[in-house]
Amino acid sequence: MNQELWAFIVNVGETFMKGVPISLALAVVFTALTWFWACNPGRPWWRKPDLVTDICYWLFIPVITRFFRIGLLIAGAAILFNIRTADGLIAFYENGHGPLAKLPLVAQMIVFLVGEDFITYWTHRLFHGNRLWKYHAVHHSSEELEWISAARFHPFNLFFGAVLADVALLLAGISPNVFVVLGPITIAHSAFVHANLDWTLGPFKYVIASPVFHRWHHTAAERGGEKNFAATFPVLDLIFGTFYMPAGELPDRYGIADRDFPTSFGAQLVHPFIQ
Ligand SMILES: [Zn+2]
Ligand SMILES: [Zn+2]
Repeated sequence: MNQELWAFIVNVGETFMKGVPISLALAVVFTALTWFWACNPGRPWWRKPDLVTDICYWLFIPVITRFFRIGLLIAGAAILFNIRTADGLIAFYENGHGPLAKLPLVAQMIVFLVGEDFITYWTHRLFHGNRLWKYHAVHHSSEELEWISAARFHPFNLFFGAVLADVALLLAGISPNVFVVLGPITIAHSAFVHANLDWTLGPFKYVIASPVFHRWHHTAAERGGEKNFAATFPVLDLIFGTFYMPAGELPDRYGIADRDFPTSFGAQLVHPFIQ
């Protein structure tokens, strides 16, 4: 038991340490870019009032995502494919399986990105519904939206959003090698769309989600708050009628209508369960 506990602690530590270089790089890059191209000029990200909350999510979310994903992968293989041994799991997941795993890695990446974005577009819309909003409100609770707010998700939202989509695609046969390449890119892009930048990406605004595109999603419901659900490909919003980027206007005033919503990390984790 002690050995298992130690292995768990080492695993958590490794997950933390992997995130350090990429976090520092993102901090430097977005500090420099915001200096020149701020969407909402004001105080720098490190002086935002709920910075400690954002840092807690930034550290905690990669660890919990990893354990959720592993747990769901083991459960999925057992329930859907009757695979119950460690060797069986390794053979099943190591390089993917079935027709998708036979595609070149680049093609698998495209399938993964499109599949993931399609699934999370719809789970994101569901989380904006009455029953699930209390979990997703955590993500929208940042009033000063910055790159470091990107990881602010309630674990329940994370489990039934990105983690479920990842596992569905791995169970469909996509190779986990796709994660090795796309993992850091996805983290960087997620920080990018939350960064305080006035970038719309011009003619590419339908191709890749930009800071202005996603910052509109963080405004009030009657503005862009019920629009722009796609994480990566805004064309999904275009197809489903939820695209919103008014010409010549930049988003401002972020956050949620509930003025009593807690701002600390611990209180936000508990809040949806006691409402
Ligand atoms: Zn949302
Ligand atoms: Zn967001």
